[in-house]
Amino acid sequence: MSKKGKITLIILLVTIILAAIGGTAYYLYQKDAPKRELAALGYNEQQTTVIIKNNLADEVINAGQSSLFIYALENNISNIDCKDYYLLPDKDIPEGKTAKELFDVINKLKESGYTSEEAYVMVNNLDFETIYTVLRTVQPADLELFTTAIYHDYSVEDSLLLAQGNMELMNMLNEEKITFENVKPMLTKGYSAEEIIQLYNAMEPDDYAFIKSMKYIPELALLVGMDNFEMDKLPRYLMSLRSNRAELNDVINWVNNDNDYIPADEIDYSAMYHDEEIPENYASYTACINKQYALPADYVPSDLEQLPAGYRVLSHPMRHVAANAFMNMSDGSVVAGYERILAQSNYRSYEHQKSLYDEYVFQDGVALADTYSARPGHSEHQTGLVTDIGTSSLDMLYFENYSGYEWVLENAHRYGFIQRYPEGKEYITGYEYESWHFRYVGVESATVMYEHDWTLDEYSLLFD
Ligand SMILES: [Zn+2]
Repeated sequence: MSKKGKITLIILLVTIILAAIGGTAYYLYQKDAPKRELAALGYNEQQTTVIIKNNLADEVINAGQSSLFIYALENNISNIDCKDYYLLPDKDIPEGKTAKELFDVINKLKESGYTSEEAYVMVNNLDFETIYTVLRTVQPADLELFTTAIYHDYSVEDSLLLAQGNMELMNMLNEEKITFENVKPMLTKGYSAEEIIQLYNAMEPDDYAFIKSMKYIPELALLVGMDNFEMDKLPRYLMSLRSNRAELNDVINWVNNDNDYIPADEIDYSAMYHDEEIPENYASYTACINKQYALPADYVPSDLEQLPAGYRVLSHPMRHVAANAFMNMSDGSVVAGYERILAQSNYRSYEHQKSLYDEYVFQDGVALADTYSARPGHSEHQTGLVTDIGTSSLDMLYFENYSGYEWVLENAHRYGFIQRYPEGKEYITGYEYESWHFRYVGVESATVMYEHDWTLDEYSLLFD
């Protein structure tokens, strides 16, 4: 080999050696790049090791700064599989929130069964208080509904309500096939989306508006869909179903043919006392007190007052609003050209009713007494909202002979009164017909009862 050749060989060898050293150094440098990048993002050595060991380096580096993930590693390192929940970049962390607060809320979402995508949607779109409300009230399965509603600009409160519905109803709303005003009160009452759609499709707008004002009626959607359904007979359908006198598939025809009717002289008035309860609204103007619903023995209305002398026969008080309404009706009877109607018997205490009833039982026996007198606690007179009407020339017991009797029947509702025990409704009210006994319920309720020919017992099945 020539001298020139030896030199060339040496240069070549040195080049190869240098290249090998450089390559190795470069290789080692490259290999540590993730460690350096993770360190730059704030992960310590131990955390970096865990991240690399789990092949998460690229993903973690791509996410960028994530105080949440660092916090998660510090506190929950064994759950590194759940990185999806925690790898939220700092730029996406809601302002003013700490990693710990986020960690807690995401853990809650995770425990409740939300996916990482859903958790992201929640954390990115809602404040934490709302998320906790959603967690308390929305099932994970209904989250899509909730987020769809949020997306369509419903308030959080309304979205929570819509999350109780279904996608069909949501689509009807979005396509403006139904208004939210026709959905919201129904969902609030507890109707399901299926029921709302059934009712809305089956009813005329006026009838739908009417049932929107009622309370939740579990049987309603089924009944409304049936042939020959009549709104005015709804309470009787319900009574027949709930007392098991008729089957669901037959109840419409059964009631429409008056099979529920029992003539007054065939009613077992004592047997109508059953399942005694105190209604929640016992002090309200529309409280239904009958043979099923009683007042507490110690209930005394707080606003009882005497009627002025010109409006009464005896001196029993009435509740303030009822007393005023009666005076107006009494004035109305005079304006209409009749003898002034007067209040003859109004408020009676529990004890007073007890002594009356006991006396009637002593005279007539229980069965007969129960046809015309209420057992203590069951008397409407204890509400302070009742007046038995007479005139100065006519005792209340003969009130149907009063020259203005028809006027009273046709106009009492304008003053907020209803005749409480009408003729022909004995099988519903549980009392013999009383021409004289009028009950204050307020103008609005009285008008509904008048227009639909409903007793308070019937009205109470539909309204609170
Ligand atoms: Zn009475």
